[in-house]
Amino acid sequence: QGQIMAGKRGVVMGVANKNSIAWAIAQQLAAQGAELAFTYIEAMEKRVRPLAEELGVTQLIPADVTSDESMEAAFATLKDEWGSLDFLVHAIAFSDKEELKGSFVENTSRANFARSMDVSAYSFVDACRRAAPMMSEGGSLVTLTYLGSERVIPSYNVMGVAKAALEASTRYIARDLGPQGIRVNAISAGAVRTLSLGGISGGRSLLSEAKAWAPLRRDTEVEGVAGAALYLLSDLGRSCTGEVLHVDAGFHIVGMPDEDAIKA
Ligand code: NAD
Repeated sequence: QGQIMAGKRGVVMGVANKNSIAWAIAQQLAAQGAELAFTYIEAMEKRVRPLAEELGVTQLIPADVTSDESMEAAFATLKDEWGSLDFLVHAIAFSDKEELKGSFVENTSRANFARSMDVSAYSFVDACRRAAPMMSEGGSLVTLTYLGSERVIPSYNVMGVAKAALEASTRYIARDLGPQGIRVNAISAGAVRTLSLGGISGGRSLLSEAKAWAPLRRDTEVEGVAGAALYLLSDLGRSCTGEVLHVDAGFHIVGMPDEDAIKA
């Protein structure tokens, strides 16, 4: 009754613990009446299972995005159990934290460049390809990105390159799937305290600097990121595709900080 996701089914990929952005999104989706599946990596099962139970998640499916067999099995399970899908949330990224510090040009190995691209960008292409055939009534797919794709951010390094690939992929997939009524968007979230942020050297200063510079002078609230996801995943977002929506307290618009921010 007034629930904007009532009657919709979707999969949330990337809940690791209660700090995960995917968890904040899942909570709002459930509160708005969505039926949810979670995919997770097996190492996280102990943390993910109780969260899934808390929301009454009906499908809890292991999926390692680096494995074709694992992705094949996960989407086969979804197809067997549900047949159709209305939305998908992709909140997955990985890079060796030894390379998320210092000089990008000096510290980026071939192997970790490839792995970061695979887990953080290709996995969205792969998930969209597998989900689209289940979206015969149209659908909405959302991924999570960060400003380090557009601007140089200390330590973000190869992850910024992977996010640039993810955002470009979002536009190409939106072009391909648009004629089927499937929308594809990215949310460029400001820094939020999660497991992944902890892997970035000086991750805490990403939070404090953003807070000082951002027009709203406060941290990005994860509830605000989830609110944007709700917009994009529901019919409210029906005319939006191929977009990178910044949800970062306005941090991305600032070219030079105000004096109070420099003093802070
Ligand atoms: P998180 O650590 O809670 O989530 C990352 C998820 O990626 C975890 O659930 C982890 O299990 C999953 N993952 C890693 N490798 C995987 C693999 N091989 N197969 C399947 N899953 C795998 O951290 P988060 O901050 O919630 O990250 C979610 C997304 O949001 C990421 O794409 C991240 O880059 C993005 N993001 C985060 C911030 C931030 O400040 N925290 C800002 C902007 C964008």
